[in-house]
Amino acid sequence: MAEYKAPLREMNFLLHEVFAADQLWARLPGLEGAVDRETADAILEEMAKLAANTLDPINRSGDEEGCQWNDGVVTTPKGFPEAYATFCEGGWGSLLGNPEYGGMGMPKMLGAQVEEMINAANISFALYPVLTAGACLAIDAHASEELKQQYLPNMYAGTWSGAMDLTEPHAGTDLGIIRTKAEPQDDGSYSITGSKIFITGGDQDLSENIIHLVLAKLPDAPKGPKGISLFLVPKFLVNEDGSIGERNHVNCGSIEHKMGIKASATCAMNFDGAKGWLVGELNKGLAAMFTMMNYERLGVGIQGLGASERSYQNALEYARDRVQSRSPAGPQQPEKTADPIIVHPDVRRMLLTQKALIGGGRALSTYVAQWLDIAKFGEGEEKKRAEAMVALLTPVAKAFFTDKGLDCTIIGQQVFGGHGYIREWGQEQLVRDVRITQIYEGTNGIQALDLAGRKTVANGGAFFELFASDVQQFIDEQADREEMAEFVQPLAAELQRLKDATAKMLAAAKDDPHAPGAASVEYLHLFGFVAYAFMWAKVVAVALPKSGEDDFYKGQVKTARFYFARLLPQAQALAASINAGSHTLMDLEEDLF
Ligand SMILES: Cc1cc2nc3c(=O)[nH]c(=O)nc-3n(C[C@H](O)[C@H](O)[C@H](O)COP(=O)(O)OP(=O)(O)OC[C@H]3O[C@@H](n4cnc5c(N)ncnc54)[C@H](O)[C@@H]3O)c2cc1C
Repeated sequence: MAEYKAPLREMNFLLHEVFAADQLWARLPGLEGAVDRETADAILEEMAKLAANTLDPINRSGDEEGCQWNDGVVTTPKGFPEAYATFCEGGWGSLLGNPEYGGMGMPKMLGAQVEEMINAANISFALYPVLTAGACLAIDAHASEELKQQYLPNMYAGTWSGAMDLTEPHAGTDLGIIRTKAEPQDDGSYSITGSKIFITGGDQDLSENIIHLVLAKLPDAPKGPKGISLFLVPKFLVNEDGSIGERNHVNCGSIEHKMGIKASATCAMNFDGAKGWLVGELNKGLAAMFTMMNYERLGVGIQGLGASERSYQNALEYARDRVQSRSPAGPQQPEKTADPIIVHPDVRRMLLTQKALIGGGRALSTYVAQWLDIAKFGEGEEKKRAEAMVALLTPVAKAFFTDKGLDCTIIGQQVFGGHGYIREWGQEQLVRDVRITQIYEGTNGIQALDLAGRKTVANGGAFFELFASDVQQFIDEQADREEMAEFVQPLAAELQRLKDATAKMLAAAKDDPHAPGAASVEYLHLFGFVAYAFMWAKVVAVALPKSGEDDFYKGQVKTARFYFARLLPQAQALAASINAGSHTLMDLEEDLF
């Protein structure tokens, strides 16, 4: 297996040349002086080392050993506690945190690149700090000042970690039907009782304390999603002086045995009258949790990207090394018994598909992170617009990156032939590990429904118009550049196709309640392909003039050509499916399935 090498050149290119991140950082009110180009580059270089030297080496052993549960105590695989300590000593847990409580206050555009490296090196490991960072966000945005001061500094330091406790055995997608109860106590706290399942990092041996953010209902709460509140429930209660006190009534009943991410502890958690504190307002828990979710969902999408990049690096090294058959054009390396498989058109198709999907995805993750930063640090109209863009693009990023993540890791496995199916080369682990990203944090089917329903039909396409106008503005800006026509013209045509599909879905939704759901998955994929075309065109706009002087830029332009010629045409088939409407899905009587 190739050693993981962080794609720093690609990341720097996107941040500084394509998105001019340092100019944005310099003008956003909350970010001035926090970070400049040099600091950002130094941070990326440090994470590249940590990912390669500390996280990557325990990825395979972590998969083989897995987590253990004995008498309520969870143990992570060998090397994980030490790697976690190194991670925390480096201050990585505080990267995006609020400086008022010990965070570094860095932008998500930088955080997204850092997260990609952690995930590429070791998805199981990444989940522990990523969930903590998400929990910190929800606490920072919604908890009382007292809770923030008590919990955030230790959580940023990583000595305390976070977990997100939503799912129950009978309630996954539909959180409105959860049964966990919260009863008010005289001292202002709540007594939490119930069972949660599938809780990532619900217990582990990495941190001194685990801070659970738990969704529960008061006895007199309204039925459904409007009766859900959010509570902070620590594994160990915290004394007034900030030290760790007695054990709270929250226990891990078992851990799951899973297809992948075996070094991530997935726990069944029991709350038996555990002491908890309200976060945000009563009955507004779901909204508070969504603060965490927008960041988490991009983070889960980035897991798909990281796994794809890792798989690509392995596949590329193997394709240069493995010799089988001769090139159709005659021997390319006559001194060898056969040519390296990278000469074969189909192997090139596989590698280029990976490269083009990863490049488009990495650019889109930077673009979405840019809107997250403007939404967080910006002001006025610009902030409002950014919030709408984040709402629209988050489900696309989560689902498209992870659907394409599975595709990419399977392609990477295929490049290895039979050697991809056995453990030795690590490709099958990536397929198993990335598969969960399509399921948790809201299944990709639910992401698609969110995009088509809440984010598009519910506002008459207003959010979509914002995205479409951003693409159109780019197209207009490029109008005078003849050399860009080969990219801009198909981008304009596919934008029109997406606009037509959106209009058709909006019209159908008026008298067909099934229309958004029936169109949703194909609609999200069409959106994803058009968004990647936009990204690749933006990349080419910068790379094309420099492509004669540097092979890196030449590689970007040629990959973009492949994307437009070989991948983007899938948009046509997707539009046909969307336009077919709901009747073929709904007509078959249930007993005829
Ligand atoms: C390894 C792992 C880690 C996890 N980590 C966490 C965690 O840290 N915290 C946490 O709270 N949860 C966690 N989860 C739970 C995860 O988020 C849920 O499994 C997921 O949200 C789906 O819920 P479900 O499994 O109950 O499926 P269900 O909700 O039962 O869904 C089953 C199928 O029906 C579809 N479906 C359901 N409703 C609709 C609808 N309205 N329209 C269309 N299709 C629909 C779904 O898309 C899915 O395909 C984890 C799960 C796993 C496996």
